Amino acid sequence: MSKRDYYDVLGVSRGASDEEIKKAYRKMAIKYHPDKNPGDKAAEENFKEAAEAYEVLSNGEKRRRYDQFGHAANAQSATGGGYGGGGMNMEDIFSQFGDIFGGGSPFEGFFGGGGGRQQNGGRRVARGSNLRIKVRLTLEEIANGVEKKIKVNKQVVCKTCDGSGAKDKSSFHTCSTCGGSGAVRRVTNTILGQMQTTSTCPTCNGEGTTITSKCNVCHGDGVVRGEETISINIPAGVSEGMQLSMGGKGNAAPRGGVPGDLIILIEEVQHETLKRDGNNIIYDLHINFVDAALGTSVEVPTIDGKAKIKIEPGTQGGKVLRLKGKGVPEVNSYHRGDQLVHINIWTPKALSREERETLEKLQNSPNFKPNPGKNEKSFFERMKEYFE
Ligand SMILES: [Zn+2]
Ligand SMILES: [Zn+2]
Repeated sequence: MSKRDYYDVLGVSRGASDEEIKKAYRKMAIKYHPDKNPGDKAAEENFKEAAEAYEVLSNGEKRRRYDQFGHAANAQSATGGGYGGGGMNMEDIFSQFGDIFGGGSPFEGFFGGGGGRQQNGGRRVARGSNLRIKVRLTLEEIANGVEKKIKVNKQVVCKTCDGSGAKDKSSFHTCSTCGGSGAVRRVTNTILGQMQTTSTCPTCNGEGTTITSKCNVCHGDGVVRGEETISINIPAGVSEGMQLSMGGKGNAAPRGGVPGDLIILIEEVQHETLKRDGNNIIYDLHINFVDAALGTSVEVPTIDGKAKIKIEPGTQGGKVLRLKGKGVPEVNSYHRGDQLVHINIWTPKALSREERETLEKLQNSPNFKPNPGKNEKSFFERMKEYFE
């Protein structure tokens, strides 16, 4: 049991709100989670200490008692069959995650990998592990959103036993050790009096049922290796490294439990000519200095086909033209980025004699002398314009 002040353990003030306490605990749980710190005893102790602090501070009644009596309150309440006394075991801590990380939280993927268990009316229900897949998307697919049908190898429910793991109905029994509750109670004598602890039934592993004769196909697991074609709707605007989660589409759980989630990791395929910058698309256009001086019209690629743009006579290198709304949409929003056409003046690298002679005639022409003047935008101003 922790000797430290529970508020100090979670790093919150005494007046912290329930939400602040939950947030602080979530942070601690992630930092010291055993999956992240394998074999680290100190991390495990911190993990347990944080869970114990949260157990008390997240409960209005326990928190009030703790505020009034400090740690003594916990010891006393232990005799009443409550909590505390010997601290919490790992099983209890993980079952607590249901409310702290559950319900579509971004941490599900992190904690779900181990095929954890969750509470269901007292009985423990197995949870299938999460499944991770990568999906590669082109820039066009990202810009427009796409439905991908992907064949996934995973644990599926055994059809022979319908996921029960039993050979037939008669080989399926309520556990005689725990009477189907999945938990056993134990009373121990301590210096503080009698303490009652509840632990997972060792006979049925908390499932509440036992099987005398196992299914021949899945050997009692209720799941087998199989595949499923899953249709994934990817919204427009996703980006490299983003994770989408489809609840219940991961591995099936043993014996009728809750299936895990399917975690979809987004990968971007580089476009040949268009570069993505957030919601904007950047295109590097090269024109020669004659076109820049005389003006012209050119076609540029965009994510939905070619677009014609006009180059005004006297266009300078470094100018950025904006094609409104030709960028990538923001996820879950109507806002769409732009395509920015960055104009580069191409200087010929090799010249024929004829070309050289023509240019030599122009070389000292008065209008060819660089004369930026006050009206020309500086590099800094262009950059500002570019990023606005
Ligand atoms: Zn049992
Ligand atoms: Zn089976």
